[in-house]
Amino acid sequence: MHSLDPIFKPKSIAIIGASREPYAIGYTVVKNLLTTRYEGKIYPINPNADEILNLKCYHSILDVPDPVDLAVVTVPAKITPAVVEEAGKKGVVGVAIIASGFSEVGEVDLENKIVEIAKKYKMRILGPNIVGLMNNPLKMNASFAPYLPYPGKIAMLSQSGALLIALDSRTWLDRVGMSHLISIGNMADLDFATLIEYFSIDDQTNCISLYVEGIKNGKNFIEASKKVLDKPIVALKSGVSKRGAMAAASHTGSLAGSSKIYDAAFKQAGVIKATDLNDLFDKSLALANQPPMRGDNLLIITNGGGIGVLATDSAEKNDLQIKDPPDDLKEKIKNIIPNFGSTKNPIDVTGMANDDWYKNTLAAALEHPWVDGVVVLYCEVAVLDPKDLAAALHEVIACSRTTKPITIAFVGGELTMRASEWLQKKGIPVYQSPDRAIKAMAALRDFGKIRETGFDIFEPYTDIDKNKVKDILTDINKRKSRYVTEIEAKQIFEAYKIPTAKSKLAKTEDEAVKLAKEIGYPVVMKIVSPQIIHKSDVGGVKINIRTDDDVRKAYNQILNNVSKIDPKPEILGILVQEMAPSGTECIIGSTQDPQFGATVMFGLGGVFVEVLKDVSFRIAPFSKNTAKQLIDEIEAKAILHGTRGEKPKDIETLAETISRFSQLVEDFPELKEVDANPTILYEKGLKVVDARIIL
Ligand code: ADP
Ligand code: MG
Repeated sequence: MHSLDPIFKPKSIAIIGASREPYAIGYTVVKNLLTTRYEGKIYPINPNADEILNLKCYHSILDVPDPVDLAVVTVPAKITPAVVEEAGKKGVVGVAIIASGFSEVGEVDLENKIVEIAKKYKMRILGPNIVGLMNNPLKMNASFAPYLPYPGKIAMLSQSGALLIALDSRTWLDRVGMSHLISIGNMADLDFATLIEYFSIDDQTNCISLYVEGIKNGKNFIEASKKVLDKPIVALKSGVSKRGAMAAASHTGSLAGSSKIYDAAFKQAGVIKATDLNDLFDKSLALANQPPMRGDNLLIITNGGGIGVLATDSAEKNDLQIKDPPDDLKEKIKNIIPNFGSTKNPIDVTGMANDDWYKNTLAAALEHPWVDGVVVLYCEVAVLDPKDLAAALHEVIACSRTTKPITIAFVGGELTMRASEWLQKKGIPVYQSPDRAIKAMAALRDFGKIRETGFDIFEPYTDIDKNKVKDILTDINKRKSRYVTEIEAKQIFEAYKIPTAKSKLAKTEDEAVKLAKEIGYPVVMKIVSPQIIHKSDVGGVKINIRTDDDVRKAYNQILNNVSKIDPKPEILGILVQEMAPSGTECIIGSTQDPQFGATVMFGLGGVFVEVLKDVSFRIAPFSKNTAKQLIDEIEAKAILHGTRGEKPKDIETLAETISRFSQLVEDFPELKEVDANPTILYEKGLKVVDARIIL
């Protein structure tokens, strides 16, 4: 038995704040439990009532003669601590707190108080600020939502209560079946990570589906999700726009991080991303009912060219490849369909197709080892009744011994809808457009890939010098201004074996000449000042300096340029630096995210970053393999892999550098922002020429 079973599969429930007033939440919860015929014991608690809905009512939970697994608390926020305390004394395993009026409206202390009380009694809290929880196999509707969801295998967790009620109704309309529907509200205690872990071993659940506004402890979320390899997790994150994030923050009391960070976290956690509510339902339906797609060979079968092309377009957008099937399969299908059909992918069984043609084509596809998944498309036509087609498809699928995923799109009117419903009841996902069927298949492929590749295993580099970084940071912390000079930033990089351009600080013109000679011409010279962040913007950088004379000139020019800045910046000296040969300029950067900790960003330099924002993210730390994915996620990746006669760049070294960088920023969270911009990449090797660290 799992320690959370008494909460999600309780044998007895007390409703603290049970009411005799119809429409009161304390009344509705009791009524719902009775209506759904929950088989466990129900104990209404109300100090002023002896009977509610024909059930004996207790004045205090302490009066209940038997043990209580779960207490649903429906009293107002202010009274909540007192009743949580009583529940604790009673030995209740978990409290589901429905009331709002906690951290989501700034009442953080009140929320902390109930958490403390619960801890004292080793009791767990669901909520506060929730609708309640539902367990379909147990027929338990411990919520104020009107009914249990359509039965099925999805455990859906929602951070929004109102949305959960709406989705509950939608499950019946779309026939998307749920095992559990759980409102998790403010997540004062039980959070996504804990529930993901719990539902990953629930045998009534095949798919974990999340509506996320904000995750509180990002690292826990990633770790919990990574442990779940055999059950898909799909998530819709709201608050991806700046304004949306503001609304979400005030809504749940948890900060909503930037959408790129969440995308990265989901990827690293093996969580499949949904783009909107329909997509969340569509993908959950497929993931709960179909096996993962275990290879890249998708076959599309259609009776219409139009929907076939739409499906092909959508496949490309969703990273599914559409290749022609092997000759023997083509040959087989050629004998099934008329000669004006097509045996290329999509297979066009033609508008003349009857149920037999569809049936035989699908059977041939499922049997053939080349095929990893099938999307069947149907346009409503007079020659083929969708009901007959549905029966035929079901027959093939039921008889097939293979475990290949299938999604279906039926496009048409009422007859089509009814046929779709019939198929859906048999556990076969049917959608109303080719695009949705393809996206559902893409989710099954994503799940297949997650299972094939597993998760990133980061082996920390051991040839690094952590103490060196500590010493540098200690020195900096002793100073009044905690400005990190470019030299120090580069020393920190070098300690993690990130190659940088050799740099030395000159305080006089003569010293600059001496250092330039030591370093060797050509050199670069740069201003060093705590107040100047963008050096070249103020004429603080001179490159390609080739003689002693030019060093002197550059020295004075730079000082002259920055002397015009108002107020006058403090000048620590002028950096003399090895001039790196030209190459491909990249940016490797990092910021600390409040939810996920250190993050790493990669992109190409210049316009690619500033104008096109062509960058990708990961949560630190991660391996060289993941760094390669990060590199390949930018749109302009062709530039790195070699294009138009250019030789490919040293991706291996770049990936290793990024992985080392991810270790550095993970090891030292006090590095609030770090930029290696530019990092110049060559056919062999790379060099960081500008390094900036903000503590
Ligand atoms: P900032 O970003 O503060 O303006 P940088 O140190 O990045 O200053 O210098 C501006 C540009 O000068 C860089 O983007 C790069 O193109 C070039 N540059 C800087 N340092 C070097 C170097 N050591 N070798 C070659 N080019 C350099
Ligand atoms: Mg720079």
